[in-house]
Amino acid sequence: MLDQDVASAIIEAVDRSFDRQLRFTQDFVRIPSLRGQEHTVQDFMASAMAERDLSVDQWRIDVDDIKHLPGFAPVTISYEHSFNVVGTYRPATRKGRSLIFNGHVDVVPTGDAARWTTPPFEPRIDGHWMYGRGAGDMKSGLAATLFAFDAVRAAGFQPTAPIHFQSVVEEECTGNGTLACLQRGYKADCAFVPEPLQPKLLRAEIGLIWFRVHVAGDPQHASGFTSVGANAIEKALALWPHIKALEDLWNARKSDHPVYKNHPHPIRFNIGEITGGEWTSSVPSTATLHVRCSVLPGWSLAEACAEIEACVRNAALTDPYLSNNPPRIEYHGHMAEGYVLENGAAQEAVLADSHRMVFGTALEEEVTSAATDARFFGLYQGTPAIVYGPICESAHGFDERVDLNSLRAVTKTMALFLADWCGIERAKA
Ligand code: ZN
Repeated sequence: MLDQDVASAIIEAVDRSFDRQLRFTQDFVRIPSLRGQEHTVQDFMASAMAERDLSVDQWRIDVDDIKHLPGFAPVTISYEHSFNVVGTYRPATRKGRSLIFNGHVDVVPTGDAARWTTPPFEPRIDGHWMYGRGAGDMKSGLAATLFAFDAVRAAGFQPTAPIHFQSVVEEECTGNGTLACLQRGYKADCAFVPEPLQPKLLRAEIGLIWFRVHVAGDPQHASGFTSVGANAIEKALALWPHIKALEDLWNARKSDHPVYKNHPHPIRFNIGEITGGEWTSSVPSTATLHVRCSVLPGWSLAEACAEIEACVRNAALTDPYLSNNPPRIEYHGHMAEGYVLENGAAQEAVLADSHRMVFGTALEEEVTSAATDARFFGLYQGTPAIVYGPICESAHGFDERVDLNSLRAVTKTMALFLADWCGIERAKA
């Protein structure tokens, strides 16, 4: 556990640079890093790391490098602009335990931008909130990793173990960004992912599957004067209640899950997008449901997929047209197992101490119906992964915002965690 004077000096250093941290976070949010457009924001992160004398590794993700690895998710877009950046601190003397800080720069679409109070990529501070797409999820947390490191050094110390700052893409859709960091050989004794799931220890997260249900219709004149055809959009919509019924079926299985049995509703099936049709006066020839669903930790993804496929197949059998023209299922993103943090007693103890020094209260735990990239470290690298971050509201919604009081406090916890976990020594003048 850190000496109280050392902890106080680090905490004060976070306070001193907090205005600068906020300006940096606003500049970060101002860069609209939607999927497939993350290259400029990664240049921004690479220079922030270079300014801190970290050795910077910036590379484009190559599907061929990772497609054979566990945890890989199918991709249907080009990775032309999909770069990861890892900044590494290598200590002069090494005695402590190494650390990975990991966060994602990709943000989800804004929805109708006109319905935001102010434009989503013009971050605004109002009271103790910062508004903007990505302000909460999760640019504030990722920026905080660098400022936590700054604070330790500004207080006159240097860490005595390697630290990798991973700025990744693709968290919101595949996780292939973090997977590419594993493939590249980055490994440490602990991973820390400051997702905005509150300043609590995340004990468990669900897994995710993205799938599309493609329906092929029979296009005809909409008047039906030749024949009524088969309306692909109507056929696709008729499938949805059958698919949605899996949500209740799967949630019922939580009762024998050791971690999720008390969670009110861990599984969700969400149509995120519907595409289809060609012309108002034509019977549509295509329609696609784009669905995200979740699975509990420990479930087999292959079995879950088989169940989804059987459900769609059986639903199609209730319709004469679809019986003869069965829908096609495509997996186009997340294929993620759930994750429960285990074997992390040492990491958890340091987090609990750090949290208590900042908040004055015991660290609480939570279990979420969302997913993070933490699973990669825990499941495929044997590295316990801590998820702990600021308070965010309206993630993926309008007026996404991060609570700046929690951000300040979480930055302090992270700085203390870094110092305690990695070890520190007085920097030579
Ligand atoms: Zn996130």
